[in-house]
Amino acid sequence: MAEQKEPHKLFDTILVLDFGSQYSHLITRRLRELNVYSEMLPCTQKLADLSWKPKGVILSGGPYSVYEKDAPHVDPAVFEAGVPVLGICYGLQEMAWQRGENVVAGEKREYGRATIKVERHTGQAPHVDQLFAGLEDANEDDLQVWMSHGDKLSQIPSDFITIATTNNAPFAGIAHAEKPYYGIQFHPEVTHTPKGTQILKNFAVDVCKSTTNWTMGKFVTQEIDRIRAFVGEKGQVIGAVSGGVDSTVAAKLMTEAIGDRFHAVMVDNGLLRKNEAETVKVTLTKHLGINLTVIDAQDLFINRLAGIHDDPEKKRKIIGNTFIEVFLEKAKEIEKAALNTPQAGPIEFLLQGTLYPDVIESISFKGPSATIKTHHNVGGLPAKMDLKLIEPLRELFKDEVRELGKNLGIPEELVWRHPFPGPGLGVRIVGEVTAEKVRIVREADHIFMSEIKNAKAPLDAQGRDMYRQISQAYAALYSVKAVGVAGDKRVHQWVIVLRAVTTTDFMTADGYEFEWKFLKHVQTRICNEVVGVSRCVYDSTSKPPGTIEQE
Ligand code: GLN
Repeated sequence: MAEQKEPHKLFDTILVLDFGSQYSHLITRRLRELNVYSEMLPCTQKLADLSWKPKGVILSGGPYSVYEKDAPHVDPAVFEAGVPVLGICYGLQEMAWQRGENVVAGEKREYGRATIKVERHTGQAPHVDQLFAGLEDANEDDLQVWMSHGDKLSQIPSDFITIATTNNAPFAGIAHAEKPYYGIQFHPEVTHTPKGTQILKNFAVDVCKSTTNWTMGKFVTQEIDRIRAFVGEKGQVIGAVSGGVDSTVAAKLMTEAIGDRFHAVMVDNGLLRKNEAETVKVTLTKHLGINLTVIDAQDLFINRLAGIHDDPEKKRKIIGNTFIEVFLEKAKEIEKAALNTPQAGPIEFLLQGTLYPDVIESISFKGPSATIKTHHNVGGLPAKMDLKLIEPLRELFKDEVRELGKNLGIPEELVWRHPFPGPGLGVRIVGEVTAEKVRIVREADHIFMSEIKNAKAPLDAQGRDMYRQISQAYAALYSVKAVGVAGDKRVHQWVIVLRAVTTTDFMTADGYEFEWKFLKHVQTRICNEVVGVSRCVYDSTSKPPGTIEQE
């Protein structure tokens, strides 16, 4: 089988070695936004074990103190590879520590903003001034940086020169006098360092000489070739689609690469949003030309969920296992039918829409004793199927997947769709799932979402409408009934809960601040139009302590 050529073999790559900082992945992201390809690996990675050579290396920040007994240390080969190195925070401290153990606990911890003063060095090797090039004329606001450290350099390592200071940190930036090695005490990757991207660009593009050719247009062509070579002339691939952006983009990419030898399967588990199965079918088959099979398994799921009142984990398991069962059965049928055609062989591959954050999550450095776990596989399918995984999005961040989606002609509304959980409305009905509750929550959700999509709210600073400002919104149903009055009659009916959050990373989130008028309008519509609802409340809980979904 042909070798699957990874992007780091095709694109100049900046390697980020992760020492466990919560910002490490942002370094990679910022570089990608500059069209420079970058990958992150744990700090314990040995350069000799890589099958490729990075153009430059960045050592991330981290929660440890370099002088602690168990503190992680970088492979010394990094400094013998003849490539530029940039140390950020812990990375700076690690560089200094390797050159004379000159790092100590500072008297003051320093969190938050500081202003750097750049020091120029005419007469020194040109690379010394390169990291902060273009910042000469910046005003004080632009030279603000974000700090988050407690340790500091007690002295500058020999052969290094100070290139930036702050009131509190005499060695806020240092550079080696002869080699392209730099260390900075602050975090250029966070948005609180306004010129941070410029600094990363100076490093990656000007110092490391990385080409800026990482674009989704380029990725598409390379990826299609890569998939074709990997799957072979007759290989077939199967994959589940949900109507969400990731699985749709992955499916479209497969279709572009191998046409109908890719089989998309959508399981209608009866827990989808209103008209969802039909809409997905039309979009995927008619507009995107994807070879899709929809399985109607609504009754099976609802029947199996009957009687589960207060065990969300059990619910998830039932939904997950039933999904696998239905999917496997269909896979066998599809394979049998396809084997009868001359152009296709057996199904050997399973498509998964794994994204780079999942990969990072599974390899990120969690401590000297951390073992590297393989990333979670959706629904445990691969283990049961003995198929090879194909994960065309595994190098991409979500915003890159969206960009790729646009490139592949996927409709804008789909590209910006809010996430929807695998177990669907099953986890938005708190308590037992019944067909009646599914109907109610579906109708209520449809009203809420249409109102959000049609809202005439002013666009925000980034030009986003209400739907785009909200990261995720939905209606849920709590299995309690409340008294109400309808048409002069006392009623005892279900309570609908509306939820809408804003977030950038889904790790933390805030309730969206609707106008009263908007909420009241939605509440009136839901109570009037959805039979069986007496009340409608808004859940404004932030995460933490709440989660975005209900169960
Ligand atoms: N733990 C180190 C310190 O406190 C490094 C912190 C960091 O990398 N953000 O200084």
